[in-house]
Amino acid sequence: MRKTDRNGIEVVKSTVRNLRAYSLSPHRASIKINQNENPWDAPERIKEETFRRLADRKWSRYPDFIPLELQRRLAEFASWDPDGVLAGNGSNELIQALLMVSVSDRKRVLISEPTFALYRQVATVLGGEVLSVPLDNEFQFDVDALLRVIERTSPDVVILCSPNNPTGCQISDDDLRKILSTSTGLVVIDEAYHEFSEHSVVPLLPEFGNLVVLRTFSKAMALAAFRVGYLLAAPALVTEIRKALLPYNLNAFSQAAAEVAVELYQGELQPLVRAIIMQRDKLFAELSQIHGLSPVPSHANFMIVKSDAGPKKVFEELLKSDILIRDVSSYPMLSEYFRFSVGTPEENQMLIAALKELSGQTVDTTSQ
Ligand code: PMP
Repeated sequence: MRKTDRNGIEVVKSTVRNLRAYSLSPHRASIKINQNENPWDAPERIKEETFRRLADRKWSRYPDFIPLELQRRLAEFASWDPDGVLAGNGSNELIQALLMVSVSDRKRVLISEPTFALYRQVATVLGGEVLSVPLDNEFQFDVDALLRVIERTSPDVVILCSPNNPTGCQISDDDLRKILSTSTGLVVIDEAYHEFSEHSVVPLLPEFGNLVVLRTFSKAMALAAFRVGYLLAAPALVTEIRKALLPYNLNAFSQAAAEVAVELYQGELQPLVRAIIMQRDKLFAELSQIHGLSPVPSHANFMIVKSDAGPKKVFEELLKSDILIRDVSSYPMLSEYFRFSVGTPEENQMLIAALKELSGQTVDTTSQ
């Protein structure tokens, strides 16, 4: 059969064709600190209890249409109304659902970059106009500039990631209050990393009906493989956002694992989170001492580091030492930066040793 010239590409929206796909380098390494995951695997007790619950369940039956039991537990965990909780297949799905119900042609979505690339990606695919306010010179939210843009353009949705991926900055409650009171649209706070800052904006939910909070099980909760996220907002808003989700979006395995992780959080996961916070602060101090490197303080389980040698060279050299970091140099403002997430204490020592060697500093292997 002769192939025609038609390829269908012309029906794809030009805004989508002009968009670069969200992607991740396919490299592998033993020390994997490129995706801000929990460096420790999910604790054995969580795995065993999840397996036990699944063994007792019929695999031939659909999961819950709406995972009510998980949502009830999440509500208790987050101290919020169970009717104001929506569980999803990773928080990515909830970002998409939220934007699907709120963004169409020419609706305005305000973000602050550099930030998680998916907000711009999804808003653009849906036909929205993305407005972006850069972080300030210290990589903090430029709240005055955000407020000015909000007053001038009345965005339909404001999305801020706090602590922000990839810079680790956090919005204060006072600043967030100003943004919430000035906005006529939704204000979304992506709290994917909130456990590492030991802070949450959930207490502001009862006061602000336009606030939406996103959380994930992929980081502190050590369940990235199973894709669970949740959204917290006013019940009436949740009812609308739910309409964009596919039925049975959360499989039975993920539901069970998430329920168990919430139940056992304090005993099993919180100690890991505390260890990561301590390691982060130790790493910051150590990196500050390495010639040619300038780390940026972070409230999350990762940080960006300015490198005189250039992030691409650091990425390649660390890969030779079996360490995989994230080259974030294509992000706005970050052409000289790389990002890594906090590993186990052993992994962190190896990272520091490799970076010292790269900077030409001798490595003292006797000190711990
Ligand atoms: N939000 C932020 C800020 C993230 O960094 C990530 C993951 N990199 C996500 C959301 C997506 O998380 P999930 O695995 O729950 O889809």
